[in-house]
Amino acid sequence: MKLDMHFYGDPVLREQTKPVAAITDELCALADDMIETMREEKGIGLAAPQIGRSVALCVIDLPMDYDVDEEGNRFNPDVAMPMILFNPQIVESGRKTDSHEEGCLSFPDIRGNIDRPLEIKLCYLDEKGEAHERVIVDFLARVIQHEVDHLNGVLFIDRMSAAKRFALSKRLKRLSQETKNRLGIE
Ligand SMILES: [Zn+2]
Repeated sequence: MKLDMHFYGDPVLREQTKPVAAITDELCALADDMIETMREEKGIGLAAPQIGRSVALCVIDLPMDYDVDEEGNRFNPDVAMPMILFNPQIVESGRKTDSHEEGCLSFPDIRGNIDRPLEIKLCYLDEKGEAHERVIVDFLARVIQHEVDHLNGVLFIDRMSAAKRFALSKRLKRLSQETKNRLGIE
């Protein structure tokens, strides 16, 4: 079932999500609905606050051609898509960073370059409740950092340069106001 998207200006996007205590059937069904929603919205990642749920769950579906080097070798060969991550935590970040353009399904048509570490160590539970700790590199590391930020109430605009945020400020204000009007909040 496709779920309704929540957009910038909705307070749920700024909440710190609650960790999942147990992987229930309800949460697995939610993860499946989030995957369906992400695919219909043509996104490569979706975090629970973006569909209005303040729980520590995100899903990722990175097309394989985003995860290969020039020779066609996978950067993260042991990772299968889609990923379902419960309680994901970045426990270490590499020092090397790169800058790349990002978008976000909660900010239609708004994009900007963001600096992020190229390598992370990630801990999470999968849909069977099994714990994993793995090193993730390159673009997939970026996508995961974007989604884990959502679970902490952090949005990609927070990580843009001040100049870029200023350049976007009118559009951001308009989007936030539209969302608030729709929700009937101030
Ligand atoms: Zn996002």
